[in-house]
Amino acid sequence: MIYQCSAERMHDKIMTFSKFGDAGHGGITRYALSKEDESARDEFVRRMEKIGAVIETDDLANMYATLPGSDPQAKRIVMGSHCDSVKNGGNYDGILGVMGAMEVLETVAAEHIPHTHPLTAMIWTNEEGSEFPPCMMCSGIVCHDFMPERFRDNFKEDKMLKSVSIVDRKTEFGKKLSAFRYLGKKENRLSPDRYLAMFELHIEQGPILEDAGKDLGVVTCVLGQMIYRIKFYGFAAHAGTFPMKKRHDAFHAAAEALCYLHEEIDRLGVDDLVYTTGEVVIHPCVNTVIPDYFDFSIDVRHEDPAVLDKVRKILFRLPERKWQQCSCEVELGWNRDTVYWNPALVNYVRQAAEETGISHMDIHSGAGHDAQYASYMLPTTMIFVPSDGGLSHCEPEHTSVRQCTGGATVLLNAVLKLDREGL
Ligand SMILES: [Zn+2]
Repeated sequence: MIYQCSAERMHDKIMTFSKFGDAGHGGITRYALSKEDESARDEFVRRMEKIGAVIETDDLANMYATLPGSDPQAKRIVMGSHCDSVKNGGNYDGILGVMGAMEVLETVAAEHIPHTHPLTAMIWTNEEGSEFPPCMMCSGIVCHDFMPERFRDNFKEDKMLKSVSIVDRKTEFGKKLSAFRYLGKKENRLSPDRYLAMFELHIEQGPILEDAGKDLGVVTCVLGQMIYRIKFYGFAAHAGTFPMKKRHDAFHAAAEALCYLHEEIDRLGVDDLVYTTGEVVIHPCVNTVIPDYFDFSIDVRHEDPAVLDKVRKILFRLPERKWQQCSCEVELGWNRDTVYWNPALVNYVRQAAEETGISHMDIHSGAGHDAQYASYMLPTTMIFVPSDGGLSHCEPEHTSVRQCTGGATVLLNAVLKLDREGL
């Protein structure tokens, strides 16, 4: 039996949630734990209580709305995402996964769809880390003990609670959290004892589905990622008096090395390899002084570890030569292996897409999501719907009501398959 979600209800939710943090030109600014975040959660509670769901919140203000199943002892199936945004973000990133989960519960309630497991719609707190870094903070804390050892340091709870607001430079995340109306109990946190599996519906945030003319992505993995810092050491001197030939200009060295990197990495000829330099440090950053220090980041992502290894080799060759008479060092900032979703859940999503007749393709996620940390704790998977023009983290971000509803329909039918057939 195939069930359909309601485009009308989905449209109404999109319209309503886009008011909370409306920045006045089509998008939203809705930081975690802000008044706008609180209003979005009020609406979540209002709609979920209306269909008889039970609301719980945990000590990080993650929220859970649960519809009981026919077996009160069965573990819950959870669906969710985040409702915070970046500054001047769009109306779909994160919140679509919350609205999709709500839509699933609303459809189940409206059509009295039989199910054994309790079904939970969830909101993760502070996924974007827009005011309180890092991103995916609360899924990182909740899943901390289940992560590989080398990641745990990044998500120590006491360290996270001390994260300082980049807006006012003084408020700590923990202080803001303790004053938040939706603060609850630690025992309510997502856990493998009470939850069977997790689904996250999300916009693609890239152009692949649109370019392929597909309405849905069956997500198979989150790409492996490595971030390196490439550092250059020269010496400072006067910009007006020091001859060009004698200079050890760290910025010039870095610029030359960056162009060289692009040439060498492109020469590997790997189509879907992506790499980005998005952050630089220059010293002393004065227009009359030759820079004595420069470093830049390079973020590299690909599914295949062998490809990442080839890029790593190129990076580590940099210090073998002098760049503009400067020395070079390469330092690892962060790295994670490709995270594969649970194959049984991926299959349920693919089958649901086929049976509902929604055009689909397998896709990987280049971006990180809460589901990625959840997958260290529970069987997890994701569903993507297209982003118009591939745009996200900006106000024109858009996905049609038809595609959003299609995403929720596939989510609903995949969840029901898991409910019936198990893992
Ligand atoms: Zn997101």
